[in-house]
Amino acid sequence: MTTAAVKKAKAPADGGVTPGGTPTLAERAASVARVAGQDLARTERDAVFPEQALAEMRRTGLLGLLVPAADGGLGGTLADLVDVSMILGRTDMSVAMIFAMHCQQSEAIVRYAQSPLREELLPLLASGDLYLASVTTEPGKGGHLFKSYAPLREAGGTLEIDRTAPIVTGGTMADGFLITMRSPEATADHHVSLVYAHRRQLRVETAGQWCPMGMRASHSLPLTLTGSVPAHQVLGEHGAFHRIAQGVFGPLAHLGWSAAWLGTACGALSRVLHLLRDPKVRKRFDLGSELFLTRLSRSRQRLDGVHALLRRTQELVEGEADLSAPGIQLLLNNLKITAAEECYAAVNDLVDAVGLRHGYLQDSPTRLEKSLRDLRSAALNYSNDRLHLADGQLCLLDPDVNFA
Ligand SMILES: Cc1cc2nc3c(=O)[nH]c(=O)nc-3n(C[C@H](O)[C@H](O)[C@H](O)COP(=O)(O)OP(=O)(O)OC[C@H]3O[C@@H](n4cnc5c(N)ncnc54)[C@H](O)[C@@H]3O)c2cc1C
Repeated sequence: MTTAAVKKAKAPADGGVTPGGTPTLAERAASVARVAGQDLARTERDAVFPEQALAEMRRTGLLGLLVPAADGGLGGTLADLVDVSMILGRTDMSVAMIFAMHCQQSEAIVRYAQSPLREELLPLLASGDLYLASVTTEPGKGGHLFKSYAPLREAGGTLEIDRTAPIVTGGTMADGFLITMRSPEATADHHVSLVYAHRRQLRVETAGQWCPMGMRASHSLPLTLTGSVPAHQVLGEHGAFHRIAQGVFGPLAHLGWSAAWLGTACGALSRVLHLLRDPKVRKRFDLGSELFLTRLSRSRQRLDGVHALLRRTQELVEGEADLSAPGIQLLLNNLKITAAEECYAAVNDLVDAVGLRHGYLQDSPTRLEKSLRDLRSAALNYSNDRLHLADGQLCLLDPDVNFA
């Protein structure tokens, strides 16, 4: 695959207030974060989807962030995806993940949907009328991305979908789904197709509950999806999912997720530091304690490390790098693994630093308790163990240890 398609021109609407007072991306993201913050207690307590935040993503145009400006979208870049995900993550990791995962799906459509699907979907994405959910996880294969057991049947110009989906973020609210299934002519499990389906083309049934430790507002219910779609709703061609995953799903997932996790950990550190600087609270802490200062320092050190790795990886993916090269694959995987571990550890350090009242109780303004529960999902959301296994094999392909 080439990386040129990932690289995008900056949109006029981005990076500062443009003539006519067009809001900046930071302003749009802040608006979504504000709405998410107002609803946070309820979505967290009841583990329900943040509908108001999604409505604000639609209103601000952020759902069309990665749609080219020529197609009516904001024409945003990978840097924009990272920036917005970090801003949203500071308020709520679920909202940031909902956004980042939608962008990953939308980029797959921008790059791989063919006529007439492309002409149908891009205006909907640009106008904020198409929120996309992702269906890759499957019973029996766990998170193994590159295979599928559910057969996609092709007959009379239509594709028959019958898919069990154990976990679908935003599945009850999504306007459309991108679904991995075993290709019609498949001779092996890794011949996988990526199919688009409108909600109205499917019967979407809830197959269980969503009662998680964290990421409660992601509302990632198990679903069953049945229905049929016209044959042209396959992205790329049958069997192209491996290419789409390597070119779009993998890079954008690892960049977007890492940004969401980093934003969450930054928000936690920032709330702690503001608390410590509050004259009413400050005297309860021994700010001269070497142990205390060292814990703060370690937390910040972890976040600076993740930020540097995130930006370096983002620049390489935006540039002309060959994403199939072992060095780039290793970097992308290590970004995900490192961000998952270090963002969690940074918040865990803060719990030790500030102790029970502000580190462990739910009603502390630091929200460390919620941040830690949310960040615990990071290593599981595409298992770090699986990525280490892939990295071990990639290491063997690079005996001279060349860095990307
Ligand atoms: C908050 C959240 C939202 C999600 N949203 C979605 C969504 O919208 N759509 C979607 O499709 N999925 C979604 N997922 C699923 C996610 O992307 C992973 O695919 C899923 O969490 C993996 O599930 P698992 O841990 O049961 O499976 P596995 O990946 O099978 O891992 C289970 C454990 O088995 C071990 N293991 C198994 N096989 C191997 C192997 N070959 N190598 C090394 N270790 C192995 C590992 O220790 C691992 O921890 C979401 C997950 C989370 C946490």
